[in-house]
Amino acid sequence: MSRILVLGTGNTHKAQEIAPLLDGLGVSMRAAGEYGPFDPDETGSTLEENAIIKARAALSLSNEWSIADDTGLEVDALDGRPGIYAARYAGPGCSFDDNIRKLLGELQGVPDEKRTARFVCVIAFCRPGREPMTFRAGCAGHILRERRGGQGFGYDPVFLVDGLGKSFAELTLDEKNGVSHRSRAVRLLRAELENLRLQDEAWKRSE
Ligand code: IMP
Repeated sequence: MSRILVLGTGNTHKAQEIAPLLDGLGVSMRAAGEYGPFDPDETGSTLEENAIIKARAALSLSNEWSIADDTGLEVDALDGRPGIYAARYAGPGCSFDDNIRKLLGELQGVPDEKRTARFVCVIAFCRPGREPMTFRAGCAGHILRERRGGQGFGYDPVFLVDGLGKSFAELTLDEKNGVSHRSRAVRLLRAELENLRLQDEAWKRSE
């Protein structure tokens, strides 16, 4: 029996990205939705607050160790917008495509060298009876003038990764996990889980 780790998200793309990054640790990933309806209100004013809201909601449902991520997109030419409001950028109920259309519209006429941006991801880790922990990481890039590639989700088709010359949507899952904000934050979490595993005899024996 391995250590259960519940993921507080309804986004299957995120789950697909995160699961392989925790391979070989002896954790068994579950979706929060397996324990009951999962739809917490993201009322925080920082990525940390929102990630903790989601991880706490997963912990309340499951009573198991829980994690959740919250991601923002900071675009320099827009003074850091959409920032933590990346999901609702084009308004309530908007689609990924609506958000991309709004972003490209706002950046019309902005030259390539001024289209710098970064994704920032915070992973929150909550355990029963413990203070939440958070792990933050980023990935730098540029916002393209048009969509490129068919993989991934969200803003992936218009985010050109610095140093790769490809958008996130032109990368395989493994390639995106080699450089992305989320994978970097999950690696920080993984190091903490490895530490805890060293202290947890029951968990070590369970593999
Ligand atoms: P949240 O973390 O689900 O609140 O994400 C905020 C917004 O950023 C959503 O619109 C997501 O689609 C978008 N987003 C989050 N992570 C990524 C990513 O890895 N690539 C592209 N868009 C993302």
